[in-house]
Amino acid sequence: MANPDLLLLALEDQQIRSLFERALSASGHQIAAAQDRVSLNRILQDTFPALLILSATFQGETGLEIAQTLLERFPTLPVLYFLTSDNPALIKQALHIGVSDCLVSPLKVEDINRAVTNSLKRASRIGDWTRREVRRTTASLKQKLDELQKLEIILNGIADGVMILDMDGKILMINPVVRRAFGLSDTDFTGRPVLEVVPHPDLRSLLATGADNPLPVHEITFDDGRVYNGQYAPIAGIGTAVTMQDISYIKQVDRLRSEFVHTVSHDLRSPLTAVLGYVELLGRIGPLNEQQREFVQRIQNSVQNITALVNDLLDLGRIEAGMDIRREVIPLDGIINYTLEHLNPQIQEKNQRVQVDLPASIPSFRGNPIRLRQMLDNLVNNAIKYTPDGGEIRIQLEQQGDLAILCISDSGPGIPPLDQPHVFEKFYRASNVPKGVGGSGLGLAIVKSIVENHQGRIWVESALGKGTKFSVMLPIHGEEKKSVGKA
Ligand code: ADP
Repeated sequence: MANPDLLLLALEDQQIRSLFERALSASGHQIAAAQDRVSLNRILQDTFPALLILSATFQGETGLEIAQTLLERFPTLPVLYFLTSDNPALIKQALHIGVSDCLVSPLKVEDINRAVTNSLKRASRIGDWTRREVRRTTASLKQKLDELQKLEIILNGIADGVMILDMDGKILMINPVVRRAFGLSDTDFTGRPVLEVVPHPDLRSLLATGADNPLPVHEITFDDGRVYNGQYAPIAGIGTAVTMQDISYIKQVDRLRSEFVHTVSHDLRSPLTAVLGYVELLGRIGPLNEQQREFVQRIQNSVQNITALVNDLLDLGRIEAGMDIRREVIPLDGIINYTLEHLNPQIQEKNQRVQVDLPASIPSFRGNPIRLRQMLDNLVNNAIKYTPDGGEIRIQLEQQGDLAILCISDSGPGIPPLDQPHVFEKFYRASNVPKGVGGSGLGLAIVKSIVENHQGRIWVESALGKGTKFSVMLPIHGEEKKSVGKA
């Protein structure tokens, strides 16, 4: 806090100094005089004078240099600059660097007092303004701090795990749910690389593929059976937010439901085979009339449909249970050709055009060949089934780094936006399925399980009336093989 009565003189000339001392003491001020630069600094530091009067040269230095250095350290200190003769250029420079006024010899006592009083008044106004500003800034900082504290309380209280990372993957903040999920202590981990603190492979995968992944979601599983749904969201200017929800109970319910469906399907298979066998025998034990033959045919069709459904359910059960451990190196173009040959009769019947785009070198993929064929069969079969006669189907394969991206698109009716998130669910059929187009709603559930069983991802993009595109992303293992050309 400045001493309101103390004025500090740093004047070179002895006579001038006496003149100032007399004039200012007479008007009730306390005076301190600096003999040199060292004492000037010391007095400023120790006594906080209300004003400094500085001559154009002082102890071998120019007053301007001294004023500049001091004003950087004491920006609110009023400085009166004294010159022995008028020098407009110097005065301009002095005012430019921030001295509050200039005094030029010859001086009268009133000139000195008026200049000092004016400078002190201005300084006091600036002081008032500065104090007001400080109060205002402090209040707004306090409000921001309150908001930050509230935010912290919310983040600490919510049921989801939240971790905020900087651009280099270092921890900025983790909430208690994350600590509990990964069994972390209460230590402050701020500034530490997240993968060093939490070396979990699923978190590593989420962070590694999160930024470029169209579906930045990854399940984080623990040995004790807990499963979290991890989501990755880039935050501009800060880094990344990873949120985690505990979905263990959903997984558990899903497992129980699958086990139930698997058991029922299994038990249904034997009676169905028996029904089919006896129906076939009917014609052999005696001649059937026209109507009986038609009924037998209908029974056979229906039983075959139910058998296909039961087989789909059993397949799904096996895939979901992770029983498909067979792995071979599969050239993906071979799978595409196999599917197209196999489905060619349907394509011809609907007079559809199929375009296949393959990259120059075909990524080889380690997987289960039967399941991958089943995956592609289901996707291409749907494209054929839902696209009207004369429509177009496109199969694209490309490689992006360690990923093979396989897209099946069609010019069909599209899937309504509200149905899109559900088409991979078991038994789900979209609201716009045309009348007479059969299906159980299990095909895409099987496809999704196969893709996930191969550590891949699948997603759909569709516009009503324009078409549908299913994209499958599979991590590539093994070597590449040169393409034999475009199909
Ligand atoms: P479904 O046996 O009914 O074909 P899927 O599981 O294969 O069952 O597909 C689920 C639903 O997704 C279908 O019923 C249909 O509504 C929609 N669908 C799938 N593929 C397409 C496509 N290519 N074009 C339009 N709709 C599709």
